Amino acid sequence: MNGDTNKVAIVTGAARGIGAAIAERLAGDGFTVVVNYAGSAAEAEAVVGRIEAKGGKAIAAQADVSDAAAVARMFDAAQTAFGGVDVLVNNAGIMKLATIAESDDALFDSQIAVNLKGSFNTLREAAKRLREGGRIINLSSSVVGLYQPGYAVYAATKAGVEAMTHVMVKELRGRNITVNAIAPGPTATALFLDGKPQSVIDTLTKLAPLERLGQPEDIASAVAFLAGPDGAWINGQVLRANGGII
Ligand code: NDP
Repeated sequence: MNGDTNKVAIVTGAARGIGAAIAERLAGDGFTVVVNYAGSAAEAEAVVGRIEAKGGKAIAAQADVSDAAAVARMFDAAQTAFGGVDVLVNNAGIMKLATIAESDDALFDSQIAVNLKGSFNTLREAAKRLREGGRIINLSSSVVGLYQPGYAVYAATKAGVEAMTHVMVKELRGRNITVNAIAPGPTATALFLDGKPQSVIDTLTKLAPLERLGQPEDIASAVAFLAGPDGAWINGQVLRANGGII
């Protein structure tokens, strides 16, 4: 416990993968957690169940982050249930890979809607509502920097998230709220593993000098640092959590 027992954290896309690990870690650190999900209701309730089984406090909250009204309702629900919001972790995201030549409009529009507009929607609510002393942590990606073929649209959405991170730091001057981004490298979740041949997974696993894939808990540790008391002086930074890949 870090003493943050009265602090409330919204984690988007927290039913599965990295988001679920972040939700469970923050709950273990004493935060009350809003476990946001889009479609995975049962998984979100399971995350809440695991948190409560360890003595933590959490609720599940359905909202498609690309829907501004739904995001506003989620913040309303958090404020009604717990009195306010202190931490936003913008974790919800999708990844669709294709070269620019082979990318269709749906690939472009869907990633912009969830990764970029979705982050914008939650950041806008957080900018209006976060309590003094709050923290915002946006999930970028180490593909911003690696720029491999096939990642153009996905990387563009994450570069946009990084840009909003840097601007928002300045817009929140005077409110004692930090805004940072975590940029994971390949991490063992459905987003990374699904649809990739084993040979590609093997190659990407060996890319980091630490010679393994990131685990959701590795990323949750970095988020917990930025959300907790030890991260108080870190502001406007992009922290690459990737085992040394770049
Ligand atoms: P997963 O595919 O495992 O999980 C994605 C989560 O995002 C799900 O919980 C899903 O919710 C949620 N989500 C998707 N669309 C929406 C939406 N419209 N509204 C609300 N929630 C939504 O992905 P990861 O855990 O791997 O990814 C988490 C974040 O980390 C993403 O932002 C990703 O870009 C980033 N990242 C991941 C890396 C990796 O290698 N895994 C590397 C670098 C960055 P539901 O199931 O309810 O639909």
